[in-house]
Amino acid sequence: MINASTISINTDILRPTQVEIDLDRLAANYRAIQAHAAPAAVMPILKANAYGHGLVEVARHMQSLGAPYLGVAFLEEGILLREAGVTTPILVLGGIIGNQIPRFLAHDLTLTASSVEKLGQIEEAARQMGVRARVHLKIDTGMERIGVHYYSASSLLEASLTGDHFEVEGIFSHFANADAADQSYSRLQLERFNHVLGFYSSRGISHPPLRHMANSAAIAGFRSSHMDMVRAGILLYGVYPSDDTPRTVEVRPSLSWKSRVVYFKVIQPDHPVSYGSTWRSDHPVRAVTVPVGYGDGYFRSMSGRAEVIIRGKRYPVIGRVCMDQVVVNIEWDSAYNGDEVILIGEAENGAAITVEELADWAGTIPWEILTNVNTRVPRVYKVTADR
Ligand SMILES: *Cc1c(COP(=O)(O)O)cnc(C)c1O
Repeated sequence: MINASTISINTDILRPTQVEIDLDRLAANYRAIQAHAAPAAVMPILKANAYGHGLVEVARHMQSLGAPYLGVAFLEEGILLREAGVTTPILVLGGIIGNQIPRFLAHDLTLTASSVEKLGQIEEAARQMGVRARVHLKIDTGMERIGVHYYSASSLLEASLTGDHFEVEGIFSHFANADAADQSYSRLQLERFNHVLGFYSSRGISHPPLRHMANSAAIAGFRSSHMDMVRAGILLYGVYPSDDTPRTVEVRPSLSWKSRVVYFKVIQPDHPVSYGSTWRSDHPVRAVTVPVGYGDGYFRSMSGRAEVIIRGKRYPVIGRVCMDQVVVNIEWDSAYNGDEVILIGEAENGAAITVEELADWAGTIPWEILTNVNTRVPRVYKVTADR
C-alpha cells in the first residue's frame, strides 16, 4: 500500500501546491460501482493520467483490488503501464494507426478494431510476430467518432470470425448523451447495439465476446446497458457526470488540491490587483498570495469567480489568475504564511470546494478540470485515518 507516511515521502520538501489522492476512497468507489453494476464487471478507465490522479499509481491500486481489465485512450499510456509492471489486461480505447500495431502486440495490449481493414492489419502483424492479438470490436451507434457504423457492422463481425492470429475478446460501443435528462438517444443507441449483437445469436454462437457500453452516466442511470462489463471513468474518481445523473451509487471525491499561503499584505484602496488591473477595492483589505496558476491547470477563465478555503472559510480569488500565482482577498481576517489553502477538497469543519464548482467557474466540465491538473503539481498518495 502506498502511503505518504509509511513510504516516508517527505511532503515538506515537495512543492507546497500538491494534489492528494485518497486511495481508500478510490477503493471504496471501485467497490461501490462493482456492487451496483454486478454481475457486470468493472473496467476502471485510466486515460489522461487517470483523470489527473496518476496513471501508474491508480493502475497498481486497481490491479491490487482485482480489477479484471483497465482502459486507457492511447497506446503510449498502455506501454507506460506495462513498463511499470502492470499485468492486468489493458484495452486501448482509441483508434489505431497500422504502424502502431507491432507495439501493441509487443506489450500485450488489447486493440480496438473499428474496421475490416484494421482487423486485417492486426491479423497480418500478429502473424508476422507469431503472437495472438487480443481485440475488441468498436461499434459506432451514434457518436460518429470511431467504430464501424451499426448499420454496416455485419462485415466486420463476419471478418472477426475468421482470423487465425487474433482473438475477439470484446465488442463495445459508447454513449453520446448518457448524462442528459432525456435518455431517448441513449435508448436508441442501446437498441442499435443490441441489434448488432443479434449477429451472434443468429449464428448460434453461444459465447459472444464481452459486451460493454456503459460509461459513468450509464452505470448510474441506465442499468439495462450494463451488459458484461461497464467502463467507469469519472464516477470512479467520486464525481458525478451531471446534475441530471441519478445518484444511485455512493461515491466520494478521491482528489483534493491544496496549496499554502506564501505572502501576506494589506492592499490599499485603488491599488488594483494582477494583470489587467481588473480588481480594486474601495477600502483597505488583507490579501494573501498562493503559488498556483493556470500553468498548473487552475484555469484563467475562473478569474473573478473562483474561491478557496483558508482556515475553514471561503474567500474569493481577486484579479486575474496568473500562470503561477493567485491573490486571495481575506478582507480583515487573519492568515499566515504557510497556512493551508484548499483549492479542491474538504476542510476539517466540513467546508468544501468541489470539482463541479471549478468546472462551473471555468465554464467547462469536471473531466476537463481533473485532466488538466498539470504534472508539475506533485501527487501525494494517502490512506484515510478512519478506515
Ligand atoms: C473516457 C471513456 C469512458 C469513461 O467515461 P466517463 O464518462 O468518465 O465514465 C468510457 N468509455 C470510453 C470509450 C471512453 O473514451
